[in-house]
Amino acid sequence: MSPGERAENLISDFGITSPEELDVVAFAYDAGLEIEFDELDGCDATLLGFENRAIATIRPSNVGRERFSIGHELGHWEMHRGRSFRCRVDDPGETLASNSEHEKHADEYAAHLLMPRPLLMPMVKSVGRPGFKHINEFSEIFQTSRTATCIRVAQIDTLPLIVACYRGNDLRWHSRAPDVPKRWFIKRRLDEDSLAYDVLQYGKEMQGKQPAEVWFDDDGADAYEVMEHSARGRDGEVLVLIYLTDVEMMTAQSNRSRGAEDSFGFGGGYLKGRR
Ligand SMILES: [Zn+2]
Repeated sequence: MSPGERAENLISDFGITSPEELDVVAFAYDAGLEIEFDELDGCDATLLGFENRAIATIRPSNVGRERFSIGHELGHWEMHRGRSFRCRVDDPGETLASNSEHEKHADEYAAHLLMPRPLLMPMVKSVGRPGFKHINEFSEIFQTSRTATCIRVAQIDTLPLIVACYRGNDLRWHSRAPDVPKRWFIKRRLDEDSLAYDVLQYGKEMQGKQPAEVWFDDDGADAYEVMEHSARGRDGEVLVLIYLTDVEMMTAQSNRSRGAEDSFGFGGGYLKGRR
């Protein structure tokens, strides 16, 4: 069973039918995990377990980040019992850029616990292709951070979507919907023609059609267009949603092999719990 399935099974066992019922602290207590809030040095959350009880200490932050940290530690407790953890979960992109399987699994567990597919999916379907306006609404409803919500929406597997974060002009992390062909590996440096580039320089948020070659180095990209949504993140970052609106992009085969993704170390493997 994948971490996401484990989390959603728990939601189903509790008989939860609306986002307001997603009381992550109550889930934790039920599993024998006590939650404390305290300042922590160099990390956002810790887990200390002994026999059937454990204490998770969460660094105070905003509600979305605190909830994700609790879900993450509950994931460790459910899946990696017997071990202690010091985690940096304040920003899920941090884990996305790391190589630790345990951390990725705990993040996947948290994402599914806080945004279970049966509750999120109908909302995504009702808006078609969510932009940041919708992402912000989902964040509000599920009490999750914008970053965690973007990543979860990409992984819900019905959208032709790549989510990325650039710091300055450099790619920091990205996450793709499972069906997006690997040949579409987004550029590591922001293209000056992208809206994201302008958002970093001047604006808060922009969206519009773009030639796909602005986002992809692939030789075939010049035949297509994509839909780009870009919004300023924190600390000099820009969050980008790229929709492969051209159906052919989702089926086009690569005409040359691409090894870049594997060597980059964090492509496509974020949430393996696809259903
Ligand atoms: Zn962790």
